[in-house]
Amino acid sequence: MQLPSPIHQVSYRGFNFFLKRDDLIDPFVSGNKWRKLKYIIQKALQQNSTQLVTFGGAYSNHLLATAAAAAKHRLKASAFVRGEIVNNEMLMLCKLFGMQLHFVDRNTYKDKQLLFDQHYANANAYFIDEGGASEEAVLGCSEIISELEKPFDHIFCAAGTGTTAAGLLRGINQSQLHTRLHVVPVLKPGEFIQDEIAAYEKNTNCLNLHCDYHFGGYAKTNPQLIQFIKDFTAQTGILLDPIYTGKMCYAIIDLVEKGILSGSDKILAVHTGGLFGIFGKKDEFDKF
Ligand SMILES: *Cc1c(COP(=O)(O)O)cnc(C)c1O
Repeated sequence: MQLPSPIHQVSYRGFNFFLKRDDLIDPFVSGNKWRKLKYIIQKALQQNSTQLVTFGGAYSNHLLATAAAAAKHRLKASAFVRGEIVNNEMLMLCKLFGMQLHFVDRNTYKDKQLLFDQHYANANAYFIDEGGASEEAVLGCSEIISELEKPFDHIFCAAGTGTTAAGLLRGINQSQLHTRLHVVPVLKPGEFIQDEIAAYEKNTNCLNLHCDYHFGGYAKTNPQLIQFIKDFTAQTGILLDPIYTGKMCYAIIDLVEKGILSGSDKILAVHTGGLFGIFGKKDEFDKF
């Protein structure tokens, strides 16, 4: 475990910024998923739970993170997977970590609490919502801010559910920093993230949402994004994923090049990990 996660300065096309390398925390419990699970697992252990039960799609970084984290703590893990029975590299890794998978159709999947109660009511099982969304997850992600030794003008993160962003916002508010939080939703449309964040952290004064960097929607890419990731990695030695961190870094460079952000400001981006997110996405391969 690399904690606190290191901060690396990167230089891309003559512009310098900093990356908080949460991707280095653990190879399987991808960056922000580790932050989100930290206090969830602590609570599960306090309650003497012996099993983690969670929910997600068949390509979910959260499922793998939960499977790996459960194994580390010698807990059992199960997941309800949305949609028809499939196999892919992500689910294979989940199974190697010992996770038990239940495939449920989209309609049944909607009532997560009912599924949990029907299958795990009598077990010492701990309910973890899809993506780990919870107050515990927000607390865990706020610690990204407490690890910072120097102030930054801007902090960037990518958003799926917005829980990680809410944690960063909480950390910034609690430390009373004059930092702007820039959130790049990877879904289309991404405007809903504003409300998701505000549900956890009311004061959104320092929040900026950048909704034009979804590249068509969740897990969608185009040759321009893939080319950017290749160039970025060639120049910095740091690999980005095309679903989250690639879109975030693309946004940073674009905002600086358009003059919306000043290249001389101190900018920190959170590398939330997620490289296994490409597993099972063969339809996108021709763009690579
Ligand atoms: C899950 C994930 C996110 C999104 O986190 P949210 O808290 O759902 O917004 C961002 N980056 C990576 C790499 C992820 O795996």
